[in-house]
Amino acid sequence: MDLTFTPEQTAFRDELRAWLAENPPEAKPTSGDEHDEFVWRRDWQRRLYDGGWAAPSWPTEYGGRGVKPVESAIYFEEIGRARVPFSANTLGLLLGGPTLMVWGTDEQKERYLPPILSAEEIWCQGFSEPDAGSDLAALKTRAVKDGDEWVVTGQKVWTSGAQFAKWCMLVARTDADVPKHKGLTYFLMDMEQDAVQVRPLRQITGEAEFNELFIEEARVPDANVVGGVGNGWKVALTTLMNERAGLGFALQIRLRQLLDDTIQTAAERGLLEDPLYGDALAELHIRCETLRLLAWKGLTDAERYGQPGPEGSLVKWLWSDTNQRLTELAVDIVGPEALTAGTDWSYEFLRARGNTIEGGTTEVLKNIVAERVLGLPRLKAAA
Ligand SMILES: Cc1cc2nc3c(=O)[nH]c(=O)nc-3n(C[C@H](O)[C@H](O)[C@H](O)COP(=O)(O)OP(=O)(O)OC[C@H]3O[C@@H](n4cnc5c(N)ncnc54)[C@H](O)[C@@H]3O)c2cc1C
Repeated sequence: MDLTFTPEQTAFRDELRAWLAENPPEAKPTSGDEHDEFVWRRDWQRRLYDGGWAAPSWPTEYGGRGVKPVESAIYFEEIGRARVPFSANTLGLLLGGPTLMVWGTDEQKERYLPPILSAEEIWCQGFSEPDAGSDLAALKTRAVKDGDEWVVTGQKVWTSGAQFAKWCMLVARTDADVPKHKGLTYFLMDMEQDAVQVRPLRQITGEAEFNELFIEEARVPDANVVGGVGNGWKVALTTLMNERAGLGFALQIRLRQLLDDTIQTAAERGLLEDPLYGDALAELHIRCETLRLLAWKGLTDAERYGQPGPEGSLVKWLWSDTNQRLTELAVDIVGPEALTAGTDWSYEFLRARGNTIEGGTTEVLKNIVAERVLGLPRLKAAA
């Protein structure tokens, strides 16, 4: 991968930078209310949408700019650099939309993609269950055909943003008599029905970002099957690969900014001369640079195969590990403020704990890197 930008790529970056400078988001609400924050992020996405910047990598017919992976990476780097909020519909933009583009019918693309982009319809991801997280294919939520509809019953958990979502990317079991990976189907389930109950789960940060879903005979039309009955495992893998790769660029820039803030605080407190802190900060700097280069390297695959490959797992693993190390060191550097509820530093410290679990645990990502990137022998199931 050649990291020198072409004149067109530089022009793209400059145009976006100028737009972001002229169109800053509103100030973040101070109420601490999650709904207020959601509205703030939704308004920001609408502003991006109006400016044609909600998802430049999407094809022009669906409201994007049809840009190539390099421009898309530039986009995420600039979004991170500008310190703007994540779009309210991040799961729709980065996971749902790209999955539909690969597996959806023309009717599904036409119906669902535009409101994802404009934040009119928010999406959530109903994969994990109480007994099926890492081993997603063990999920028990079942869908039974009834005429031209499916009747869905089961429980999902850790469903981020479900309280704001109109559509759920739901994986359910449609055939219990075949090997577990083969009996799954991927649905788009309407969240606005009484059969779907959303109950918030409060996290260590104090916010309820994710939820439990209780589904009792919810109805999903046959037209909302994505990628064919029994093909849900493959469709879900497309979603997961986009999850691990898509955020990589924005996250590594945020990490860099947090590191810069930590270094500045260390300098203000005269800690940079202390070799203990100097060494730790230098190592984090090297990790940030490694991550940046790995994220760019991943583009080669995206360009070659048209979708992200398993290497995204490496970026996600290294990012989460580095973010946890950094936020732990920041506590030592910042002092008691970083352990005081309600401060930005304490939020960063506490929120980082979930990084090694969400979007695939570190242990599972290591298995993927070992088997699918390095080609090592597959893990043997316990006898
Ligand atoms: C902040 C946050 C947001 C989330 N949002 C969503 C969401 O929107 N939608 C959704 O569907 N899910 C979501 N999740 C759930 C997340 O995907 C799961 O928590 C994750 O996949 C792990 O599943 P689990 O919690 O069931 O743990 P388990 O799978 O039970 O794992 C328990 C432990 O065993 C280890 N382990 C499991 N299998 C192996 C193996 N084969 N080899 C080695 N070690 C193994 C794991 O690494 C872990 O340490 C979210 C989680 C978090 C923390």
